[in-house]
Amino acid sequence: MRINAVSDSCCQGQIDVAALEERQRRVLIVVLVVNAMTFLMMVAAASYSGSSSLLSGALDNFGDALTYALSLAVVGAASVVKARVAFVKGLLILGAALAVAAQIGWRLSNVESPVFEVMGIAALLNLGANGLCLRLLYPHRNSDVNMASVWECSRNDVIEGFAVIAATLAVWLFGSGWPDILIAIALLALFLRSGSRVLKGAWRELYPELSPS
Ligand SMILES: [Zn+2]
Repeated sequence: MRINAVSDSCCQGQIDVAALEERQRRVLIVVLVVNAMTFLMMVAAASYSGSSSLLSGALDNFGDALTYALSLAVVGAASVVKARVAFVKGLLILGAALAVAAQIGWRLSNVESPVFEVMGIAALLNLGANGLCLRLLYPHRNSDVNMASVWECSRNDVIEGFAVIAATLAVWLFGSGWPDILIAIALLALFLRSGSRVLKGAWRELYPELSPS
């Protein structure tokens, strides 16, 4: 099924958990928990520090945790159910992305420098969590197409982790909120691109007759 095999670096494609071995499934659960905790930490730190790049970065953790949780939940379900779940998930992550876009829009009217100490600590914790997931997934990166896509997604998350650290450094260097906002917009754009691809894939799966080929 098309939406199960995510060929590119998109984080939000469904994982075919049924095809995984028990060991891989356990790793996926740990990665899910790490992402869920990182998401909560990032949202708390974003609201405390006033940083948009933290909030944008948290979107990815939200999308990943949701993806792994739903992938685990639909094991053995009919493919139409899987496509519906993927579609609902796409709507959920786009809704979250809109909330982040609204926050960025609101900050644009009043560009203040975020509290970079809080931002820095959260950015380091986030990078550490992403690094941990990458380390856990490393032995499984070539084992099957699903794990390979989780691995690839996790590798991108580490790169995004560095982007948030770069934003923190630039905020500190220039004493300005602009680097934070620019990185936030870049991360949001990346997230929206993969999110809309997931929605399109699920729509094609659900309504092939309504989809342009
Ligand atoms: Zn991700």
